Amino acid sequence: MLTLSVALAAAAALYLAVEWGSIREPSLLFWSAGFATISVGSTLALLRSNGYLLIGIWFANGLLVLAHWLFLLGVARFTGTRLSRAWYLIFVAWTALLLLPEGPLWSKLMFLANSLLVALLALRASALLRPHGRSLSVGAVQLRYVLLAHGLFYIAKSLTVVVPGTLLDLTAFRGEIIQISLVEGTMAIMLIALSMTGTERHRREKRIARLAARDPLTTLYNRRALEARAPRLLEDVSSARPGALLLIDIDNFKLVNDLFGHGAGDRLLVALSEMIRSALPERALAARLGGDEFVILLGETSSERLLALGNALREQFNSTAAQTFSTPEPVTLSIGASLFDQPPASLAALIEQGDAALYESKRGGRDSIRLVDRSSGEPLRTS
Ligand code: GH3
Ligand code: MG
Repeated sequence: MLTLSVALAAAAALYLAVEWGSIREPSLLFWSAGFATISVGSTLALLRSNGYLLIGIWFANGLLVLAHWLFLLGVARFTGTRLSRAWYLIFVAWTALLLLPEGPLWSKLMFLANSLLVALLALRASALLRPHGRSLSVGAVQLRYVLLAHGLFYIAKSLTVVVPGTLLDLTAFRGEIIQISLVEGTMAIMLIALSMTGTERHRREKRIARLAARDPLTTLYNRRALEARAPRLLEDVSSARPGALLLIDIDNFKLVNDLFGHGAGDRLLVALSEMIRSALPERALAARLGGDEFVILLGETSSERLLALGNALREQFNSTAAQTFSTPEPVTLSIGASLFDQPPASLAALIEQGDAALYESKRGGRDSIRLVDRSSGEPLRTS
C-alpha cells in the first residue's frame, strides 16, 4: 500500500507538472510540488518499514505537513487569496516540537500535532474554496469536499491518540489505523489530483470561451457570440412585444484615424461602446460587428422607445466627438433600424435589413436614424 502511495503521488506530481506545462497556472506547480513531497515522504517511510532506517519517522511525517502546506498555497493562489503570516509559523511550531525530550508522551504529542496540522491545512484550503458570490466549477467543488473529508479524517485520526498502544502500531507500520490511513491517503491522492486538474481546466476553458466571445478592443460581444445568444432573446417576439435591431456606423471615422492617429480612433470606438453599454435596456444585447460598426438587439421594444434610444446615442456620441476632434466633416452616427413582430428567420437576415436601412441613412446625408417598421410593413424615416 505504501508502494502504491509512492507511485500514485509521483504520478500525480508528474501529471500536474505536465498540466502546468500547457496551462501555466502557478497553483498547479504548488500542487505538483506537494505530491512530489508526499512521494519523497512515502519513500522514506517505505525504506524505514523495510529496515533501512534512514531518517526518523517524524521527518517523513513533517514532509506530509509540508505537502499539505503546498496544497494550501496552491489553493490560495487559485482563489487569489493572501494567506496570513500565521500559516508560515506552522513550521516553526512543528520544529519546536522536535526539540522536546523523546519518550512515549513525546511520540503522542508529535502524532497529535502532525495530524492536527494536516487537518488544519486541508480544512483551511477547503474553506478557501467556498463560493464567495461567484459560482465554483465542478472541479473546485469536488476539491473543496475532498479536502474537507481529508481534513476531517485527520481530525478523527488525531483522536486515536487516546487509544492505548496506538503509537507502537503506528511507528512499526502495522495495525489497522495505519492501514486505514494508507488507504485514505491513496484515495485522497487520486481524488485531490483529479479535482485539481479539473478545477484548472474548467477555469481555462471558461477563460478561452470568454475571450472567444468578446471583441478585444471594446469587450462587447463579437458577431459569433451575438449569433449564439440572439435566438433566446428573440424567441418571445410577438406583435404585443416587438423586437428590434439597430445597426450603428460612425460617420467619417476614417478622418479621426487619419488626422489624430489609430490610437485616437480606438479610444473613440471604446467611448461609443461604453455609451451603448450604459444605454442598453433590459432584454437587450450589444455587439461590435467589426470596424466602426456596432449592433444592438432589443427583445422587447416599440418604435418610440427604439427611436428614443437611437437618438439619445446619436446626441451623446456627436457631442463627445465634436468636443474631442475637430474634423473637416462632422464625426457623427448613422443608424439603420428594423422593428419586427415575429422571431426572425436568422440574425444574418435581420442584419441585412438593418444594413439596407443604414445605407439609406448614409445616402441621405448621414447623421440620422432610418427605421424599417416590419411590424406595420411601412418604411419610416426619422432624422
Ligand atoms: P462612412 O462615413 O461612410 O462610414 O466612412 P468612415 O470614414 O466611417 O469609414 P468606414 O465606415 O467605411 O470604415 C471604417 C474604418 O474604420 C476603416 C478602418 O480604417 C477603421 N477601422 C476598422 N477597425 C478599426 C479599429 O479597430 N481601430 C481603428 N482606430 N480604426 C479601425
Ligand atoms: Mg463608418
